[in-house]
Amino acid sequence: MEERLKLGISSCLLGEKVRWNAGHKLDRYLADTLGQFVDFVAVCPEVEAGFGVPRESLRLVGDPEAPRLVTFKTKEDRTEPMLQWARRRVKELEKEDLCGFIFKSDSPSSGMIRVKVYSEKGMPQKKGVGMFARELMAHFPRIPVEDDGRLHNPEIRENFIERIFTLRRWRQTLAKKATMGGLVDFHTRNKLLILSHSPKHAGLMGKLVAEGKSLPIKDLFSQYEKVLMETLALKTTAKKNMNVLQHMMGYFKNQLNADEKQELLQVFDQYYKGLVPLVVPITLMNHYVRKYDQPYLKQQTFLNPHPVELKLRTHV
Ligand code: SF4
Repeated sequence: MEERLKLGISSCLLGEKVRWNAGHKLDRYLADTLGQFVDFVAVCPEVEAGFGVPRESLRLVGDPEAPRLVTFKTKEDRTEPMLQWARRRVKELEKEDLCGFIFKSDSPSSGMIRVKVYSEKGMPQKKGVGMFARELMAHFPRIPVEDDGRLHNPEIRENFIERIFTLRRWRQTLAKKATMGGLVDFHTRNKLLILSHSPKHAGLMGKLVAEGKSLPIKDLFSQYEKVLMETLALKTTAKKNMNVLQHMMGYFKNQLNADEKQELLQVFDQYYKGLVPLVVPITLMNHYVRKYDQPYLKQQTFLNPHPVELKLRTHV
């Protein structure tokens, strides 16, 4: 059986009672819905660094760029033990082949963005990064990362999940066929997905692949992976998706009758106006791709970038 996608996650989001007060922060969508398709690698920095449960809560204090990790009441400095553990742990995580990481928001250890950092006078500024999160993001700069709070936004959730599944497919390509042919095949299958994020980057990536033979294969793959992950992190919009949908419709110009074309354009228009979610035109398109067995479109990841059970592309 093929190995499942591995995703790092803050342990408390899976319901583990590891918080300072022995509580948890179970996120049902992540644990139960996304959990059906991924193997989680749970990490609780404060427990793994030996701070115990329950424990005194911690804060970031000082310079937001290089804060100290300090216990709330007794003001004990835990920076060094946390940093030493975090540096060791991120190295250990190399063997896990993580395709992404979901952090617990606002935590001085696990928060990836806008964590409170207190001045010596006790005034908070939401400018910090949790100590473990900082180490992990520096060690794995290409893997997608998000936090539970941001993932409540349907567009951010969709984007993150699309990136982790794409990174998984890319790594499978590297594992099976790390050749120029493998790259061309991967790029072909992901062309429309890339286009839905950035027509400009789609052009650049096409050029990179076309001229790829001039580069050592390792450098080419590394550059391609970098641009791929940067491109998919760019937001899709209704306008960009419309561009892709209209492009796909062109493949059926000889097969669809006037009424079918009219219906398709009407659904595109409803999507563009925000009356129906993206899943509606995509479902109709998938129907024609199956019906006419369109060889180029049926391999496009844009039509099925992630499992339908994750209920994405359903927001307007
Ligand atoms: S936020 Fe991080 S450190 Fe805090 S309990 Fe959750 S996993 Fe542990």
